[in-house]
Amino acid sequence: MSIEQRVGLGHDTHRLEEGRRLVLGGVAVEFERGLAGHSDADVLLHAITDALLGAAALGDIGELFPDTDPKYRGIDSTLLLEEVRQRVEALGYRIVNLDCTILAQRPKLSHYKPLIRSRLARLLAIPEEVVNVKAKTGERVGPIGREEAMSADAVVLLARTVHPPPHSTSGTSS
Ligand code: MG
Repeated sequence: MSIEQRVGLGHDTHRLEEGRRLVLGGVAVEFERGLAGHSDADVLLHAITDALLGAAALGDIGELFPDTDPKYRGIDSTLLLEEVRQRVEALGYRIVNLDCTILAQRPKLSHYKPLIRSRLARLLAIPEEVVNVKAKTGERVGPIGREEAMSADAVVLLARTVHPPPHSTSGTSS
């Protein structure tokens, strides 16, 4: 019996737009604009979903939930994450830890980080102690710094117990 560990990386970017609500990590964030996208455009959940898919070698979020499919229009990204969490779990993996970074010039996210952390832990059914949420500005340069977009990065470690195949019994033949 051995433990197999797999690391996965996720990244996402969405444009900021008037008249949209801002949702980060499944938490509604007070801001005058929101992220544009086919779904609810939760940039952080998309990065985490891709990190899980990456670790399990299951492709990417766009393959699983194409933005050309009307079924996913305006969809709550927590549902996409849950679907992927179940697929990963079905392969025998558990999440060892999750680390992520939100890149947003504004609003200030220090107050939201603990809320997002606890929401992520609940969504993924893991202890808060194995979840870390960081936030950075864009230092006022580039699309993040000019408040044109937000991005998120996520890295996740999965582990599963691997049982060796049963020994073939020698000396038997049909
Ligand atoms: Mg996205």
